Amino acid sequence: MPRDPRYDLLFTPIKLGPVTAKNRFFQVPHCNGMGHAMPLAHAAMREVKAEGGWAVVSTEECEIHPSSDLTPYVEARLWDDRDIPALALMCDKVHAHGALAALELSHNGPTASNLYSREVLLAPSHQPSKYGYPSQARAMNLHDIRQYRRWHREAAIRGKRAGMDIIYVYAGHDLSLAMHFLQRRRNQRTDEYGGSLENRVRLLREVLEDTRDAIGDTCAVALRFATEELLGPGGVELNEARDIVAMLAELPDLWDVNVAAWYNDSMPSRFASEGAQEPFIDFVKKTTTRPVVGVGRFTSPDTMVSQLRRGVLDMIGAARPSIADPFLPRKIEEGRIDDIRECIGCNICVSGDMTISPIRCTQNPTMGEEWRKDWHPETIAPRSSASRVLVVGAGPAGLEATRALGQRGYDVSLAEARRELGGRVTRESRLPGLSEWARVRDWRVGQIGKMDNVGVYLDSPLTVQDVLDFGAGHVVLSTGCHWRRDGFGRSNGLGIADFESNQRVFTPDDLMDGRWPQGRVVVFDDDNFYLASVLAEALRRQGCDVTYVTADDTVASWSVHTLDYRHIRVRMAELGIEPIVSHNIERFQGTTLVLENVWSGKQSDVQCDAVVSITSRLPDDQLHAGLLLREPEWNGAGIRSVRCIGDALAPGLIVHAVYEGHRYARELEQDVPSGVPFKRHFHVGNEDGPLR
Ligand code: ADP
Ligand code: SF4
Repeated sequence: MPRDPRYDLLFTPIKLGPVTAKNRFFQVPHCNGMGHAMPLAHAAMREVKAEGGWAVVSTEECEIHPSSDLTPYVEARLWDDRDIPALALMCDKVHAHGALAALELSHNGPTASNLYSREVLLAPSHQPSKYGYPSQARAMNLHDIRQYRRWHREAAIRGKRAGMDIIYVYAGHDLSLAMHFLQRRRNQRTDEYGGSLENRVRLLREVLEDTRDAIGDTCAVALRFATEELLGPGGVELNEARDIVAMLAELPDLWDVNVAAWYNDSMPSRFASEGAQEPFIDFVKKTTTRPVVGVGRFTSPDTMVSQLRRGVLDMIGAARPSIADPFLPRKIEEGRIDDIRECIGCNICVSGDMTISPIRCTQNPTMGEEWRKDWHPETIAPRSSASRVLVVGAGPAGLEATRALGQRGYDVSLAEARRELGGRVTRESRLPGLSEWARVRDWRVGQIGKMDNVGVYLDSPLTVQDVLDFGAGHVVLSTGCHWRRDGFGRSNGLGIADFESNQRVFTPDDLMDGRWPQGRVVVFDDDNFYLASVLAEALRRQGCDVTYVTADDTVASWSVHTLDYRHIRVRMAELGIEPIVSHNIERFQGTTLVLENVWSGKQSDVQCDAVVSITSRLPDDQLHAGLLLREPEWNGAGIRSVRCIGDALAPGLIVHAVYEGHRYARELEQDVPSGVPFKRHFHVGNEDGPLR
């Protein structure tokens, strides 16, 4: 289909200093957990973005010196010339598709760790290091500042030699010295680099000038700048940011503006909608003639065009939308809007970086697998035979298996017991703040709807006999799971006494099935991620008096990896949901819930009408078990394989279910390598050895 002319503006080239971007789609820097440790995987991931039509493809933050060592996090690195080849790999691959490569240089000062390099941390003034490392950063003297400027300049030149077209000066996210010097809470200097705004901006100005001087003849200089930290006068505030932008207006070739810290920038969809940053950045374009890029989890081309037309942005920045759909620009260009796989704002991608593991995406199961498994987000091998495939259960695992098998050309039948598709995604997306998660279902249902070779059957709870009678060559069981009622979980390996039969105990499934408790409700969180806080919020909004209890030492501890944590705490405080941490449930009799402090053993009573128990789940794998019992009959029924996937195999997150569905489809009737099922990077030899 031809492109909708309303979107033409998105495909007009734009000059960025000495280089030209072919369109307005800009993949802004994003972490990926691969970085300098996995350069081939990193380059392949960036290449797919370039192939998908992004005019600019950026790295993640790039360490410029061993005194800014981010261990254990794995980002890009340009400590010396020997780091150039790894980034040159990326540049070559990005250039092969006509895109520009951008490099985000950073010295993280007191927000580095130096756990590997063992250098002393540097900062504008003496201060504790960030992230709870029990160490301090020392105040930089004028010699240190000169050194830092030299390191930055040298890294910029290395970036240019690697083939980068755009070099960033980074003053965002509370992560780089150029920003730390701006912040009153980090900069108490009394010399020409501290005090007045002009003094606090001095270093940023100098580094911008240095960078332009070093590489500005052929590379564009971008400034990534946080306009608001939402921390009051200790942080960068909008009013001061206006002055800073005015002071530096024409110095960079490109402004990349957002809010800080990362948890405010990459807000989960539960807490911020598309385009939420506009009020914080819309002044920038009025202050400079240079192009401006910004982010807002943009997935709608109408919203994107509106940003350009209304003079908010010149380029549409995206990290998460480019992860969920690396081909987003191409799809708009080709008039395939309904093929866009929209980001759901779950931040599982962020959790890769946070847990120091390669990036994963709920919507895009190929993310992070481009090199090591040769998975491409848009293409897949054609079917190997004319076998029919029966998929049972239309949650995220079953839907993705069906879609990808359908794309391979298999004749697929998808049977779902309920009257609606989507399984847990549909159910959870009805809870407060999670509506965008339904995109996991909607994209797949939309794609399947275009396939003649796929049949979908609702209201079809299949039995073992039904499956045997169906006569498919391959059967995949994605029948999901349910929440346990017995209290079994991390904190209670033997369950909780009498929970199972207590009518006052509810599970998340009860609530999602429409059976809600009333009155005083305790939400017991032994799952430690998002669901308990979401259910607590839902109950509170229904008028319940809600107390949140966990045996963990903090609320929703894993949510720190998806940047939800602070927002959950604020939301709970706003709603008046009282958190009780470090307490396990001892027993629940009548309306008396007896809690036990996990450290002191001291018991206390809470009066409540109901407990919602969010502990762990059990697979709904009866169909699989029943089919295994009747394996001797498979041959006669024409069944060549039976596989159980997703939550029916081992309950997990939606990202796991989608991945398993996809993997099943990729590997069906294919030769899968025995042993380790993916390529790995090997680091052998000494530091002068070749990159392998
Ligand atoms: P996953 O996350 O692994 O995809 P879900 O729980 O989201 O799992 O989805 C499982 C789906 O399977 C649910 O929609 C459920 O109704 C359906 N299902 C379970 N058992 C059967 C069955 N015997 N026949 C058809 N559908 C089933
Ligand atoms: Fe979006 Fe979630 Fe994918 Fe991240 S993991 S890109 S937030 S869908």
